Amino acid sequence: MIKKIYRTIKKYDTIVIARHIGVDPDALSSQLALKESIELTFPKKKVYAIGCGSSKFSYIGKLDKLEEIPKDALLIVTDTPDKRRIDSADPSMYDACIKIDHHPYIETFASLEWIDDTSSSASQLILELINQSPLKMNASIARKLFIGLICDTNRFAFNNSTPKTFNLVAHLLEDYPLDLEKIYQEIYMRPLNEFRLQGYIAENLTITDNGVAFIKLSDELLTKFKTDAGAAGNVVNSFNYVEDYLVWIIVSEDVKNDLFKINIRSRGPVINQVAERYNGGGHKYASGARVMTMDEVDSLIKELDLVTKQYIEKKEETQNED
Ligand code: AMP
Repeated sequence: MIKKIYRTIKKYDTIVIARHIGVDPDALSSQLALKESIELTFPKKKVYAIGCGSSKFSYIGKLDKLEEIPKDALLIVTDTPDKRRIDSADPSMYDACIKIDHHPYIETFASLEWIDDTSSSASQLILELINQSPLKMNASIARKLFIGLICDTNRFAFNNSTPKTFNLVAHLLEDYPLDLEKIYQEIYMRPLNEFRLQGYIAENLTITDNGVAFIKLSDELLTKFKTDAGAAGNVVNSFNYVEDYLVWIIVSEDVKNDLFKINIRSRGPVINQVAERYNGGGHKYASGARVMTMDEVDSLIKELDLVTKQYIEKKEETQNED
């Protein structure tokens, strides 16, 4: 697969690299690292990394503006399992398309698809692609990939960090000693307002009998904290390791887009199948959803509560059998 991907990249003079909507560090890092590596290897190629950016992630790098879809171009989509989630690109408008993704399979939209849902991150896949092909690496690419890996593994705390992940990262750091303290500061430094919002969430979480914690943040409240619907995405991982719940849900009113943005995390029950029924998806234990009404929000919470109940019952059954 890696050979095929490399050969396809080599063949095209113009390459556009996209990733999923709702940009996050792994999506952006994988996209920008691949762009930089292709440019470094093939200085004559025109490579564009596209999609809506976020000033929050400006420390990772800059995106390009594409006035029109270039002719005879190759599209590469990283970190995106389905067509509807691609930010600013339609595979049918390109000569060829490659998907490089670590989400569970949803649908085929590219002529060449490399999907490995055992990989910690899309950045890990790009790292493997560069390591195993003539594509070149430098310190700036290494830094981007490291950031993507850190963010999608939550500093290697999730089980998606495998021995392979650690091996790849160890070799990367051997070859490109990175300023870890600086990188961690870039990733985790945040405004006091957001930290205060985190405190508010901790104070006001509702917890169901089955161990599902949730909170609904209105636009009024988010404005009071001088934050917006994007803030929950930055704080949701901080709510892990609380023994009173297994699943936690942050609902944020997004007035700009007239919807509710939902961040969901789990320490056991599989949540992505429920999220998929609510215009969402993601990984088994880290998902998101977007719904239009509060009724749908409540229904999503109910379904997650049921899944959590079933998870606990199944666990108890197995324990009793032992
Ligand atoms: P987040 O809570 O935004 O950090 O997202 C966690 C995971 O769920 C990431 O892999 C996202 O790509 C995925 N995700 C978030 N929102 C959606 C959505 N509306 N549809 C599909 N996947 C999503």
